[in-house]
Amino acid sequence: MTYFVWQSTPLIWALIFVLGSCVGSLINVVAYRLPIMSQPDTDTRCFNLAYPPSRCPSCARDIKPWQNVPIIGYLWLQGRTSCCDKPIAVHYLLTELITGAISVVVFAYLTSSVEPLAHNNAAFFKTLAGTFALFWWLIAIVATGRQDASNVSSLWQSFLWLGLLANLDGQYCPLPEAVGLACTAHAIGMLSLHWVTQQQDRSRLFFLGLAAGLAWFGSVFLLPLALTILGAGTVRLGATIGRFANNESSAELKLRTDQNVVATAIALSWFLSVWRT
Ligand SMILES: [Zn+2]
Repeated sequence: MTYFVWQSTPLIWALIFVLGSCVGSLINVVAYRLPIMSQPDTDTRCFNLAYPPSRCPSCARDIKPWQNVPIIGYLWLQGRTSCCDKPIAVHYLLTELITGAISVVVFAYLTSSVEPLAHNNAAFFKTLAGTFALFWWLIAIVATGRQDASNVSSLWQSFLWLGLLANLDGQYCPLPEAVGLACTAHAIGMLSLHWVTQQQDRSRLFFLGLAAGLAWFGSVFLLPLALTILGAGTVRLGATIGRFANNESSAELKLRTDQNVVATAIALSWFLSVWRT
């Protein structure tokens, strides 16, 4: 059997960046459509992630395929729609750039730091696929939560199951540990939802995120989680002391911060677990 020795060359980096930015484009679709789809008066047979084709959010005219090319489409149009000359939000471009960049960083990190993997195609592809899934889901959760933080439970749920799948052979932590801790966190979350807290959305999504992090990394997740909660708490305290003006409702802001804290902790856990091997 021949093995392809994975190397971080500029050409492969460019290909990975293109792949990542295409996924970023898909994440933009999810972040825009998921909150609309979850509204009770939306008929998801007529409006879903695949249908209708991309339209201008201002005048509803169809968007031409070349205008949809990640990054290039935005730069070509100079950030304005070609149909009605309205500004296109810059976060669409940022999501594509960030997803592309993170994909390249993850690939370069895996090929350089996990040396034995580079000589085993099957193991490398499995690790790469699992890691891409991890970061792409986290970006989708943060991007969708940015629009409407209460609509990301389906993303957290699928992310939790992916974590258990990745640990079938104990890639990040032993499966019994992942299942045991994820179930415990989820059960505590469900109990607190009904008996303790009145903030149902916030509690449910926080514990769902917690369970997902534990499903991926087991007890390794707890240290980065504690550190990011501490960090976020300090920032929030500083912001309160500095009396930052904020027009958003505090519940919505807290919900979004909670999810970003958990997502950051999961990303840190990945670096920690790769660094330890
Ligand atoms: Zn338009």
